[in-house]
Amino acid sequence: MKSEQSVESVIRHFQQELSGTGARLVAVSKTHPVELIRQAYDAGQRLFGENRVQELTAKQPELPADIEWHLIGHLQTNKVKYIAPFVHTIQSIDSLKLLQEIERQAAKAGRVIQGLLQFHIAAEETKFGLSWAEAEELLQSETVRALQHVRLAGVMGIATNTEDEAQLRREFGTLRGYFQQIKAAYFPTDDVFREISMGMSGDYRLAIEEGSTLIRVGSAIFGNRTYPAAQ
Ligand SMILES: *Cc1c(COP(=O)(O)O)cnc(C)c1O
Repeated sequence: MKSEQSVESVIRHFQQELSGTGARLVAVSKTHPVELIRQAYDAGQRLFGENRVQELTAKQPELPADIEWHLIGHLQTNKVKYIAPFVHTIQSIDSLKLLQEIERQAAKAGRVIQGLLQFHIAAEETKFGLSWAEAEELLQSETVRALQHVRLAGVMGIATNTEDEAQLRREFGTLRGYFQQIKAAYFPTDDVFREISMGMSGDYRLAIEEGSTLIRVGSAIFGNRTYPAAQ
């Protein structure tokens, strides 16, 4: 961003840009203070994404209770218990073990948590996510049939960090294809299974054209991130 633009005006800009598309905005507030999150909230933003459990649990009590918190980063099973009491959606489900732990902790908290299956769609090796084969195994498991406290709501992916538009479209198209196949095979009549989370500050317009329903945008709203370790 545009440091001369307020968070409020950027949020209003996104509201206009997204109206009439099938996509909603998840404002990715990681590394940014609660004051900036509140500015976005005051402009009407309700979906926020964080990628670290510790940061999320520190911010959540400081902010209005009707925020829909999305965990978008890699989640270790031993940390699920800290967010289960309030998190709305966990976008980064990438193993059966993690799904089982979310079910267990959501049951304990007396809640239902939405989950997205995170797929590996990027060329980079380092990004987390399921392969198609791993996802099929997970979806065919007894665990998924028995879920009572997790509602699987769709898929999520992180595209390659590249300006190559054709490659980005290919990767987004792959994720959309996974969504469609899973929808047809496992959730044909389930209205909750409807989300394709893809697109970030640099590529969200392409992602929307390729069918994104949730864009995850951080720096285009809040500015560049200054990581504490780098200060
Ligand atoms: C940080 C992050 C984003 C937002 O990235 P920007 O480029 O700042 O918009 C989106 N998705 C995930 C998984 C992230 O970790």
